[in-house]
Amino acid sequence: MTINDILSSIEAGKMTARQAVEAALKKADETSEYAALLSLTSERALNRADEIDAKLEKGEDAGRLAGVPFVAKDNFLAFGAPTTAASKMLENFKAPLQATAVEKLEQAGAICIGKANLDAFAHGGSTENSAFGPTSNAHDKTRVAGGSSGGSAVATALDVVPFTLGSDTGGSIRQPASFNGVIGVKPTYGTVSRYGVVAMASSTDTVGCFAKSVDDAELVMEIMSGRDDKDMTTLGDVMDSAKAVKPVKKIGVISDFMNGDVDNEVLKITEAYVEKMKAAGYEVEPVSMPIIKHSLAMYYIIVPAEVSSNLARYDGVRYGHRAEGIKTLAELYGKSRDEGFVTENKRRIMIGSYVLSSGYFDAYYMKAQKARTKLIDKYKQLFESYDLLVSPTAPTPAFKLGATGDDPVQMYLADAMVVGPSLAGLPAISVPAGDTPDGLPVGVQLIGWRETDRSLFAVARKVEEVANDN
Ligand code: GLN
Repeated sequence: MTINDILSSIEAGKMTARQAVEAALKKADETSEYAALLSLTSERALNRADEIDAKLEKGEDAGRLAGVPFVAKDNFLAFGAPTTAASKMLENFKAPLQATAVEKLEQAGAICIGKANLDAFAHGGSTENSAFGPTSNAHDKTRVAGGSSGGSAVATALDVVPFTLGSDTGGSIRQPASFNGVIGVKPTYGTVSRYGVVAMASSTDTVGCFAKSVDDAELVMEIMSGRDDKDMTTLGDVMDSAKAVKPVKKIGVISDFMNGDVDNEVLKITEAYVEKMKAAGYEVEPVSMPIIKHSLAMYYIIVPAEVSSNLARYDGVRYGHRAEGIKTLAELYGKSRDEGFVTENKRRIMIGSYVLSSGYFDAYYMKAQKARTKLIDKYKQLFESYDLLVSPTAPTPAFKLGATGDDPVQMYLADAMVVGPSLAGLPAISVPAGDTPDGLPVGVQLIGWRETDRSLFAVARKVEEVANDN
């Protein structure tokens, strides 16, 4: 069910907001074995639905999303349930405020019904790093959901709700969208306020969404976007409907990601999508950006550096889990952090502290930042000749639960295609492009220059239409 289906049913008097919420809660219950959700905010959601129904009955304006249920990733502060970031550190944390993104959607009449599973503190690409157990893929329970917003992707794919919220710091919306066959949107850096979202890496953190149709995804982004005085990085008018859509003519396929390093089925499906783009009238040709090969190395230095700084506040005194039976302050910090964080959180804190330490700062952190500037320059240069870039979203379809074992590098490799746009602050969306013979979905990533988010939706919609007509 799409947002538009629910809105028109409510408008036609075939369904109430309460019934829409009840149906979502029922579906959440029926699909609980996937472990997509960590908590439900049933009571609050039903009360809000009644308020909206009362408004509608009186003929009042209840908002553009009146009665539409949604789920937020559990690193968004929201009322009605704890905000855990899927960690023991925040297990009992009740939010005193709502994230701006959640608040804006609720002001437009949407109803948050629960919180979705993720890798603890959004560190990971499979949702296996959740302190509360992994989420299963919507198409094959023996496979990963992707991550870190795996729960959100699966909740959309299973039709629990028509849209869900995620955060994308280095692929956490796009990669699980690809793995579960839904649309995943990572906007231009600064499009949506991060206020009230648990910080991971502040120079690449973005708020986006998952949906089943391009129209739905675009509508949700439109409602969430805008300037927020509580997040000074917000831009203001990226999704403004008055903003002209830059017409797209020329599209470049990133050839560095169209080779033997990529799963054969993924290549085939990406090539078929490129053909559809051509059939839709776009001029498409391969482009090479050799520096993209280094983007993973840049990302896994810069992001842990920022993570180590953002996670410093969880010391058991000011924030977070506090260990019991402690004698000294050092022991309190150490034990609280040891108990509250999962292994991957600790790994990133250690890598981050190392690359920021005075002896290694120039060799790692500075070098990575310089390389990042070069990467941005390369994108800038390519976007002078091309209106859009395309690549697979991930090198493989969803892999088996447990497949990466204890090897973090194997997991990091799944991010090869998605971290570039994050480092450069570019908008990128993953659209479902087809299924492998085993029935596993594969997504293709559309990347634009900053603030051309509207164009990505326009191209995705056009390709979808042309493909449907044939
Ligand atoms: N897989 C990436 C990582 O582990 C993405 C994380 C994210 O976007 N939150 O860093």
